[in-house]
Amino acid sequence: MDGSLTFLGTGTSMGVPTLGCRCAICTSADPHDKRLRPSVLVRWNEAATGIERAVVIDTGPDFREQALRAGLRRVDAVLFTHGHADHILGVDDLRPLSFIAARESGPIPLYASPETIAILEKVYDYTFSPQATYINRARLTLEPLEESTWVHGVDFLRIPVTHGEQTISGFRFGRAAYLTDVSAIPEASFALLEGVEVLVLSALRHAPHPSHATLEQALGWAQRIGARQTWFTHIAHDLGHAETNRTLPENMRLAHDGLSVPVTL
Ligand SMILES: [Zn+2]
Ligand SMILES: [Zn+2]
Repeated sequence: MDGSLTFLGTGTSMGVPTLGCRCAICTSADPHDKRLRPSVLVRWNEAATGIERAVVIDTGPDFREQALRAGLRRVDAVLFTHGHADHILGVDDLRPLSFIAARESGPIPLYASPETIAILEKVYDYTFSPQATYINRARLTLEPLEESTWVHGVDFLRIPVTHGEQTISGFRFGRAAYLTDVSAIPEASFALLEGVEVLVLSALRHAPHPSHATLEQALGWAQRIGARQTWFTHIAHDLGHAETNRTLPENMRLAHDGLSVPVTL
């Protein structure tokens, strides 16, 4: 099945420009150097109904702006990679979309690991607590993330990756995969990535970081996985879009906000 993958945001946790910074990238006039917090949108037309389905991976603090820019009018499910602020702080902005979903078919399911569910329950206590009474709370349900999550005809396979001290979730859907906040890829996860044609991998900067891969590490994994096209995301202000892309192999590029690529689901 044909679908599309849209980069809602390709920046690191602080976003680019980074507040208070006057570096060449943060003051760049190139729109490709403006990066909101990391998130992607997967869309496809469901064969049985012809309805356009939409899954968002992570809803960070820029979700509202990203959804407006992408023309997102409905969401069928959200998958979470992990519970850090740059990946979850947009949950409240799902409210209006959740009212639409609730009228159509029911609350929007959020799929997350037990650790991430615990964080979401704490941060959004007024939404998820059984005692929550706020009338306009989001119509969302927290669902345990299994090895595979079936959403209207598309299977999202969980790909465990290492993020500093934690194991978090990446996702494979058809011939595409999205792996963000990666500091290492367990051997068993490489096997789950065989045959991937479009790979998205996080690459923070050149200098080492305890919980994020450098561009050089990410390049090495990308070469090993061997996708037809690799896109890098979760990018800090150390990497300029145009100048970095000039140094990369033909089939590897920094992604940018708003970029949409076709994927086979
Ligand atoms: Zn992150
Ligand atoms: Zn993180």
